[in-house]
Amino acid sequence: MKLTRHGLHSEMIEKIERISGEEISKCYQCGKCSAGCPVAQEMGTLPHRVVRHLQLGQDERAFEAEAVWFCTSCHTCESRCPKGFDLSRVMEALRAVLLRRGEAPVRPEDLPAELFAAAPQQAIVSCYRKYVS
Ligand code: SF4
Ligand code: SF4
Repeated sequence: MKLTRHGLHSEMIEKIERISGEEISKCYQCGKCSAGCPVAQEMGTLPHRVVRHLQLGQDERAFEAEAVWFCTSCHTCESRCPKGFDLSRVMEALRAVLLRRGEAPVRPEDLPAELFAAAPQQAIVSCYRKYVS
C-alpha cells in the first residue's frame, strides 16, 4: 500500500484499474449510481460503497460485497454518473479477479437442470458469462 496524491493505492487497486480501465479516485461518492441501480436493494453494500472500499484500500471488503455478483452490467450507473465513471466495469474487474482465484459463489454446473429448462436462454448465457468468464 502506498500513498499517492489520490490517497491510498494498493497493487490490487492498480490491477482493478488495469482490468476495468477506470480510475478509482475519479468517483467522488455522490451516490447517484446507487440511487438509480435497479438491483441496489438486493446488494447489501451499495455500488458506490464498493468503490469507496477500494479508495480506502479495503480491497477485501470490496471483494466480499454481494453487489459484485448482483450487478447486472446494465450501465444505468454510468449513464447517471456526473464523472462518467463506468462502475459496471469495476464490478466486472472485481468478478474477474475472484474467478481467477476460484472464488465464484456459484458454479454453473451445480445449477439444477429444471432451472435450465425454465430460464430464458438469455439469462443462461448471461449467467455463464458472469460466473465463468
Ligand atoms: S455516480 Fe459516479 S461519482 Fe457519483 S458515486 Fe457513483 S460512481 Fe461515484
Ligand atoms: S451496472 Fe451494476 S451497479 Fe451499475 S446500475 Fe447496473 S446493476 Fe447497478
